[in-house]
Order: sequence, then C-alpha cells, then structure tokens
Amino acid sequence: MSIRSFEHQTLAQRVVFGPGAAKQSLPAEVQRLGGHRVLLIATNAEAALADRLAAELPVVGRFHDVRPHVPSEVAEAARALAEELDADLLLCVGGGSTTGTAKAVALTAGLPILAVPTTYAGSEATPVWGMTESRRKSTGTDPVVLPRVIVYDPELSVSLPVGLGVASGLNAMAHCVDSLWAPRANPILSAMATEGIRALAPALRGIVADGSDLDARGGCLYGAYLSASTFAGAGSGLHHKICHVLGGAYDLPHADTHAVVLPHVLAYNADDAPEAAARVATALGADEAVAGLISLYDDLGAPRALRDLGLREDQLEEATALVVEAAPGDNPRSVTAANVSRLLHRAWAGEPPLRAEEDERSQS
Ligand code: NAD
Repeated sequence: MSIRSFEHQTLAQRVVFGPGAAKQSLPAEVQRLGGHRVLLIATNAEAALADRLAAELPVVGRFHDVRPHVPSEVAEAARALAEELDADLLLCVGGGSTTGTAKAVALTAGLPILAVPTTYAGSEATPVWGMTESRRKSTGTDPVVLPRVIVYDPELSVSLPVGLGVASGLNAMAHCVDSLWAPRANPILSAMATEGIRALAPALRGIVADGSDLDARGGCLYGAYLSASTFAGAGSGLHHKICHVLGGAYDLPHADTHAVVLPHVLAYNADDAPEAAARVATALGADEAVAGLISLYDDLGAPRALRDLGLREDQLEEATALVVEAAPGDNPRSVTAANVSRLLHRAWAGEPPLRAEEDERSQS
C-alpha cells in the first residue's frame, strides 16, 4: 500500500463506553455540558428506558413523536417544544431516528446533544443531518448537529431484537465498506473502516447466537462507532447514494435497505477497487470479499430482497434514474443506467450479487 497525499478531519467528540455506562455517567456528562434544562428525546417504545436513565437529570420535557427519516413536521414540533421549554441540552436515547430528531432541533436551535445510542446506525458519530419532505430526503452536514458526547452502553441494546440488530449492524458494516471508496476516503479512515468490519462480523454472529451477550453487543457498538466515524469522514459512496434514494423516495426501512444493498454494491465495485476488496476479505477472515460477506449473511439470516421491504418492481425504473443522478462521479466502476438497473433488479428479487465481470458476461 502506498500512502500518497490526503486530508483528514477529526471530529471533536467525547465517547464514554461500557456496560452500565449510561446510568453511571449521565449526571456527570450533563453537568459537563452545562445542562440545566434537558429535553429528553426517545420514541414511545424507548420512553420507559429513557426515563429510567434520566431519573436524576434536570429533565424539563420529553419528545416522543419520533418517526423514521425525520419528517419535516416532526422536526418542527420538536423544535417548537425545545423553544417553549427553553431547553439548553438535548438528550436522545434510541436509534438513528431518535438521534436524527435531536439533530433537527440542534440544526436551528444550536443546542448541544448528548447521545445514548441503542442501535448500530451510527448517527451519533456524524455531523450529518437528514429530513424528509414530500418523498424526498434531504441531508446536509453541519458541525452543530454532531453530538458533543456519546455514551455507549451495551446493556441498552440487549432489548434490540436480534433481527433489528443484524440489520442495524449491517448498516454499520455498509458505512465501513462504502468508506473505502467514498469521495473523501483516506488511509486513516480506511484503517478505521477495516477495524470496524473486523469487529462487527464476529459481534453480529455473537448476538445471533445469544442476544444477551454483552461482549457481542459491545462489539457491535464499537463497530458502529468506527463505522460512523469513517462514514462521517469519507462521505457517501455509491452504496449510501442508492440507500438514500430508496429510503427517501419509497420510505423503505433504513437498516434493512442497507443490509440488502451492501453485497450488491461490494460485488459491483470489487473488481475495480482491488485494495478495498482485499481489506474487506482480510477483515472478514475470508479469501474473497464478496464470498466472505455472503457467508456472513448466511450465518446471520440477513435480509436479501428489496421486494420483501415493500419496494415494487414498477418503481425500479424511477429508482435507477434517481441513483444515476446521485451517484458519485469517482465511483471505482462507472455507474450507468443499465448497470444500476441490473443491480437494483437483483437486489429487489433477492438474487445473488454479481461481480463486474460476471455481470457483463451475463449481458453478452
Ligand atoms: P430507528 O431509530 O428507526 O430504530 C429502529 C427500531 O428499533 C425502532 O422501532 C426503535 O423503537 C427500535 N429500537 C431502538 N433501540 C431499541 C432497543 N434498545 N430495544 C428495542 N427496540 C429498539 O432505526 P435506526 O436504524 O437506528 O436508524 C435509522 C435512521 O437513522 C434513518 O433515518 C437514517 O437515515 C438515520 N441515520 C443517520 C445517520 C447520519 O449520519 N445522519 C447515520 C445512520 C443512520
């Protein structure tokens, strides 16, 4: 590997990690951030958990109307509540939708966020916000939405059903893999991404074997942090652009969509990104990247088909056009409508991914 010139930006964030860390460290972390009027953000499902963690905190209000992909009216309602309560700190306990809601408030109110993630989506480690309006998801980057403190507590994700955990962990895996060829990829991010893949694969097998295994839950959170940090630095590669289109335009479940699409994008790029493919293979302990990922998917019983997630076949043509429009110009393999259409059809039908050479041979 030759290291040529690159730029790398580190993010200013404090990370507290460990079983039991949330209950133990939140009072001190809230104090450290100068929080006297905390707005607690959690879904209805996580409300009781969040209340338990926040029992000794100066909470002045709660926002529970969290919805996937942060619809703009949800963002407005959360902002209005923060203003009405004169909140000075946002504490979000939950998955990426919950963190995303806190980010939507921080974006306009400038309030600091203390994030306690309970899935492996990784939004807590990025300065990226997202909101959805009229079937289109818009995203942006603003340092103000980057949570100041993250508290990772493996005990909190034990209740995450294993199927959701698998999809969420593969969402994290996708951040790692896509970071290897995304527009701002660099050697430091690639090292973190490789370690993220190396940590996630056994940890995901571990939660499938035993969902209450705290080491495995911790491995998933560790991998999630690395994955999101690499995504934050490297930006969206082809994989994220595809999932962004599918999530925003067709309201597909976020983590499952990432899980289904990832092997197809890895296969799409592997021959044209040999160094990235070699990293993935090594991190998975496999001879070859795509086969290694498929073997992991087999062990995890991972989701395979977009049609199972609610996408209709007659939507693939529109999706193809949207992906081609959004695809990064420097993707390792050229992105054409014909190639993307075949990739999406296979992902929709749950067919095995095809590497570039096999894909092109299938056309001749
Ligand atoms: P989610 O937050 O919608 O959570 C999925 C489900 O898991 C929900 O039903 C939730 O109630 C449940 N859940 C969460 N924690 C649980 C627990 N401990 N026990 C039981 N159930 C639990 O989904 P997600 O996959 O975490 O996040 C997806 C969202 O995050 C998307 O909108 C995506 O765009 C966003 N995201 C943003 C970034 C970013 O950098 N901005 C990165 C990754 C994901």
